[in-house]
Amino acid sequence: MIGVVGGGIAGLAAAHRLQAAGYDVRVFEASEQVGGLARVYETTGDPIETFYHHLSASEETIVDLIEELGLGGDLEWRYKTDAYYVDGVVHPMEKIWEIVAYPHLSFYDKFRLGMLVKGIDVRGGIPKFDTYDDITDFEDVPVREFLLEHTTRHVYESFWEPLLDAKFGSRTEDVSAAWLLGRVKFRGERDLLRGEQLGYLDGGFGKLLDALLEDVGEDAITTGARVTDLATSGGSVESLTVERRVGADGSAAEGVDTATETHEVDGVVVAAMPNVLEELTGYPCDVDFQGTVCSVWSMEESLTDTYWLNIKDEAPFGVFIEHTNFVPPERYGGEHLYYTASYIQDPGEELWGLSDAAVEARWQEGIAGLFPQFDPDSVNWVKTARNPRTAPVYERGYLDMVVPYNLGEAVAEGVYYAGMASMAQYPERSLNGGIEAGYACADLITGERSVDAVQTF
Ligand SMILES: Cc1cc2nc3c(=O)[nH]c(=O)nc-3n(C[C@H](O)[C@H](O)[C@H](O)COP(=O)(O)OP(=O)(O)OC[C@H]3O[C@@H](n4cnc5c(N)ncnc54)[C@H](O)[C@@H]3O)c2cc1C
Repeated sequence: MIGVVGGGIAGLAAAHRLQAAGYDVRVFEASEQVGGLARVYETTGDPIETFYHHLSASEETIVDLIEELGLGGDLEWRYKTDAYYVDGVVHPMEKIWEIVAYPHLSFYDKFRLGMLVKGIDVRGGIPKFDTYDDITDFEDVPVREFLLEHTTRHVYESFWEPLLDAKFGSRTEDVSAAWLLGRVKFRGERDLLRGEQLGYLDGGFGKLLDALLEDVGEDAITTGARVTDLATSGGSVESLTVERRVGADGSAAEGVDTATETHEVDGVVVAAMPNVLEELTGYPCDVDFQGTVCSVWSMEESLTDTYWLNIKDEAPFGVFIEHTNFVPPERYGGEHLYYTASYIQDPGEELWGLSDAAVEARWQEGIAGLFPQFDPDSVNWVKTARNPRTAPVYERGYLDMVVPYNLGEAVAEGVYYAGMASMAQYPERSLNGGIEAGYACADLITGERSVDAVQTF
């Protein structure tokens, strides 16, 4: 049997692929629900992701999986709307004429910004088209230094700096230019007149989780089951220990007690954060993580025409997303759904220490400050989620810290890792990256692919 630690998208994808190759697989998920960071809340209509999710056009593996699971007809590609909130005004920034009309950058600034986004190096006046081809050349270059050299100071200060600050806060200085270039490439092609399309599943990504759950089979997935130890013998993994919440009658039910079980295994895929890998195997991972506090708001009314609002002005959250400007409110029984979120670089940050109610009160004031028309009585409900590890800090030298899929040499034969610190989650963590990491481990176990074939960037 192959044991999978973690029932997030990476663990479920690994299980799906292994089962398809005829392997006996069992997934152990610590919480009561599968899905990890892609879990959902209920609304009066379709469920909504706890943390905002969409797909970029460059992501193909998840599209293949969606089709394989019979959900191809539910995949929708919708034009997004981006805007920048500056000096109390929402400036749309998606279509070419909106960018041309944006008043806070000069024509030359926009030219330099546009060239960088198109991957054309215009330093020195002679365009070069291959400077950014190999992003690993920029692994050791600080993103700030890079942007000052490859765009202009004004582009940096009035465009990039607020975005980087919202994403990386106090860690911005550590982030590599390779991350930025990777992000630019990661995004799909942009239609000059209509902007960029993003993918979403009709019914939400919970539908993909449900389809995977059904495909893998509930019998092969145990929730409320935390893996606490991996035992090895003669240099190979031998068994895993699971702590399960069980009911008074000994059945897996209401968590009134815990029971410890040991399962013999032929292999293990650790599909959780690298701190879990370290706890189970001692394998150290130097990747730093940021956390996220994220609220979903249901309101009676719309506040903007924009899906994704970046904010340059003072605001208590880093990003404001009106989800129902991307997916129509009719899907949610007419509710208008929003996300407010902040990334946490350090658990000592004040926001991290606040209760959900205090975060929501502070953020509600922030919404009122940005949108004078906001009526607090229009809020139907608000729910807040937080997680201390939601994205790696893509700092300089990051690629040296990536955890290999096959830990046969480093830990023991039969131990594999598919998670946020895997190569497939660079330069941006995503559902697609999680699936690719899970597939990579499965393919190494089945022999479908070699280490060289899966570990490449
Ligand atoms: C704010 C935010 C925005 C995002 N936006 C997008 C987006 O727009 N598009 C996109 O594609 N992706 C997005 N993502 C990323 C995406 O959600 C993740 O890349 C993906 O869900 C990671 O999946 P995973 O399986 O690797 O990890 P996780 O989802 O973290 O799953 C790991 C699972 O392991 C379980 N576990 C941990 N320890 C143990 C143990 N000892 N025993 C058993 N189980 C254990 C956990 O409970 C968890 O369920 C976003 C994420 C966040 C937080």
